[in-house]
Amino acid sequence: MLLCTAPKPKYRFLVFEAWVLDDIISSPVISLSNVRGRGNGAVPTSTSDQVELGLPRAARDLLLFWCTLHAWLALTLNVDDRYRYNIRLHDLQKSQQVLAAKVDSLLTPGSPRSPVNGIPISGRETPSVQPLIDPHAASPSTSVLALGPPLPSVGSPLGSETALPTEKERERALYPSRVILTTYPDQHGIKPYPLVWGAEDPKVRGPVICSRLVSSLKHRNAIGAHSGSYSIYRALAVALGTLSPTHKPAYALTEPPFPIPPVPSWSDPTKIVSFDPWGHLVPQVFRDEMEGKNLDVRPSIAVTRAHIKLSELDEAARRGEIPIDGKIVLKSRPMLNEDRTESSADPGIELVTCKAAVEPVWYLPGVAERFGISESLLRRALFEDTGGMYPELITRPDVKVFLPPIGGLTVYIFGPPEYMRDDTKELTLRVHDECNGSDVFGSDICTCKPYLTFAIEECVRCAQRGGVGVVVYFRKEGRALGEVTKYLVYNLRKRGGDSADKYFKSTEIIAGVKDMRFQALMPDILHWLGITKIDNMVSMSDMKYNAIVQSGISILKRYDLPDHLIPPDSRVEIDAKIAAGYFTSGKKVTEADLFKTVGRTWEEADH
Ligand SMILES: [Zn+2]
Repeated sequence: MLLCTAPKPKYRFLVFEAWVLDDIISSPVISLSNVRGRGNGAVPTSTSDQVELGLPRAARDLLLFWCTLHAWLALTLNVDDRYRYNIRLHDLQKSQQVLAAKVDSLLTPGSPRSPVNGIPISGRETPSVQPLIDPHAASPSTSVLALGPPLPSVGSPLGSETALPTEKERERALYPSRVILTTYPDQHGIKPYPLVWGAEDPKVRGPVICSRLVSSLKHRNAIGAHSGSYSIYRALAVALGTLSPTHKPAYALTEPPFPIPPVPSWSDPTKIVSFDPWGHLVPQVFRDEMEGKNLDVRPSIAVTRAHIKLSELDEAARRGEIPIDGKIVLKSRPMLNEDRTESSADPGIELVTCKAAVEPVWYLPGVAERFGISESLLRRALFEDTGGMYPELITRPDVKVFLPPIGGLTVYIFGPPEYMRDDTKELTLRVHDECNGSDVFGSDICTCKPYLTFAIEECVRCAQRGGVGVVVYFRKEGRALGEVTKYLVYNLRKRGGDSADKYFKSTEIIAGVKDMRFQALMPDILHWLGITKIDNMVSMSDMKYNAIVQSGISILKRYDLPDHLIPPDSRVEIDAKIAAGYFTSGKKVTEADLFKTVGRTWEEADH
């Protein structure tokens, strides 16, 4: 309940926010706004139609008692009074929970808990006081949870007598009737698992827990969900009945095939703030929590090996620029002809690589510090600009970790991974931000794919010289503006006469900014890998260079894409960047030159 004093002192406004009433009334969540009383003794005399719906008389009586009590409080106490009487939020919350339990028992008389959330779904027993969470609740019955209503059932004969649960029954089995919109510190039943970011010992650091499963809900020490934006697909799978929400992954045999061991940066809380450095070792270092304490702890990093094959590298090998060494560069096996006989054509080469996929896990105080803003401002901005999706950013200042719904990154390593931690070995690096149109589909409007393949070649050459090459691929499509914005900018550029002098301006007209990649968090991955110096950096970006150097990693040499690898239409981008101060080892471009660099217009070719 929020108590607000109106501009005119004689009015007092009660604003019942959903977070109060969602625990009293079964869904749909109701909200009473601007219920206005006048003068002492006035109480709300009516409630919305929603309140009246579906409530038995006793529940309505309880609700009326609740409203009356708090209306009286609001109307008889001014702000000073409230301070003086020291009305504490958690006292109200406790009484709210007791009331909520009573209402629940009236709504669903005598019912055992939902297997997922510990909320009554059916049965005979009536709990006297309902705790927020029941840690002893059993696992859900997959027979109810995993049956998706509309999906075709291969094995079930037509006319089967077995009644499938209705959609409403499945919803009630999956979720509580009361929607818990958010939680508060010191709330009854809430006890976050200890987490000390940057602690050297993983037992002290503690696991990151964001699960809302009943076994973990009260121990959550992180806001958000695993898998970044893919958490939405997981939600769909649960809603459709194809995934049991309590499915327990079997992590045996999934451990990394090569070690990425702790290095001093892991225990420096300022060096790694954007993901969990223990993320790939979760099943090993947090076994007690996962098995002994039945907590839902998940890896946020996965490490594996692969062979990769790129046509650009096949061509480079044919030109003799990349020798086959049998360790890093292998000759591919022969391809097949259409008639499945072995082809005599050159099959090209493939590269042996070690790689790691990393999900974002933000330690909010560290992220805020990295950007030079306050944690509260960061939390408020994240809350507002995700459509209010994570209310605990506001209500749980005690929870310092947030798993944001954004893409992560992938590391590709060429050569022995342990060389990354050995500063006597030569190291080549490319930090590449995703550009799907170019990287995958070969769009020629930018230099992204040529840069990426050139960097991989450089990494392989470095590894063949006895060093190691690293490519870090960040999911920050279109300078983190996204593809929709990017394509709108392309249209503007092409219609406006695509010249280099308008390159950045076009993006600003649409997006309001030139770039939202903000490289300040980027060096975390280098510190995690144990990199302390970079011999060769393939990049023209000053933002990347400065972020890495300022984080304490030295860069001995940097170089950009050779001119002969730049597609003609992307000269606009390159020249605009050079004129804006990006690094170049080649031609110099001034602002005055930019209007001369013009890209292809739509009229030059049929589309
Ligand atoms: Zn691009």
